[in-house]
Amino acid sequence: MSKELFEQIKANRAKLDACPRHAFGELPPLAFGVKLTCQRCGGALGAIEAAQYARGFEAAGGNPDEIISDFRGDDATPVTCPKCLGVCGIETSPNDWHDCDFCDCVGTVDRQKALSYIDESKQLDLFNANNET
Ligand SMILES: [Zn+2]
Ligand SMILES: [Zn+2]
Repeated sequence: MSKELFEQIKANRAKLDACPRHAFGELPPLAFGVKLTCQRCGGALGAIEAAQYARGFEAAGGNPDEIISDFRGDDATPVTCPKCLGVCGIETSPNDWHDCDFCDCVGTVDRQKALSYIDESKQLDLFNANNET
């Protein structure tokens, strides 16, 4: 990790730590490397961390919608499968269909499942984020 990058991460962390309460607004479509930016402190947090933060706030008796708009209300709406990115039913070669076991080839999964997948892929997420310029 370069020194510059390390400083960037440190500056972002300082912003996040100094924020009284994050407010991320709408959750963007979930995919690798998606970061939510706090409208209050300008710090960026990975989607899964932001969701954990909202859940923690809810557990402490707060309304998670103040952290992420419609945090609970939208759970039932399927989101694009983060594994195949909604690519399903593609014949990559004769009789060889692209087969996504995560979403059963429907291209969408529910949000909790998508978040858990992104959580597992967190290392990759961080890697990608660190390589953005
Ligand atoms: Zn904040
Ligand atoms: Zn899929």
